[in-house]
Amino acid sequence: MAIRNVVQVGDDVLRQKCFPVEEFDEKLHALLDDMKDTVKKEQGAGLAAPQVGILRRLAVVDVDEGYFELINPVIVLQKGEQTGWEGCLSVKGKSGVVSRPMKVTVSYQDRYGEKKLLKAKGFFARACCHEIDHLDGILYIDKASHIEKN
Ligand SMILES: [Zn+2]
Repeated sequence: MAIRNVVQVGDDVLRQKCFPVEEFDEKLHALLDDMKDTVKKEQGAGLAAPQVGILRRLAVVDVDEGYFELINPVIVLQKGEQTGWEGCLSVKGKSGVVSRPMKVTVSYQDRYGEKKLLKAKGFFARACCHEIDHLDGILYIDKASHIEKN
């Protein structure tokens, strides 16, 4: 296990569309373990693979509801709206106001390739949307109505 370097805005890797994960092997598990170490150390609410330079559709989310590894995640249902502050480990020193769905249902696979479904609301839903956006090269600063320096 190791801490990985978090890529900062301006790096082209953050703007690419990621490829699906097809191999649920030891290499994937090592990446997920490193992402866990990294997100805990950086005290983020989540981290997506392109943020550590890997163009694959996977992200981790670390919120009050628990720690989740989302592989090939897709938002299959969304309801309502919330507007609030968010930040990103790839956009250090800033936060911005972004509107997101209040509730989402996400289908994904776990590290063994098992298909799962999760329901999230509030900040958890916000974190899922933020991380899934990363997999399509989208950053919160693209959607923010207002951005401030911390
Ligand atoms: Zn982010």
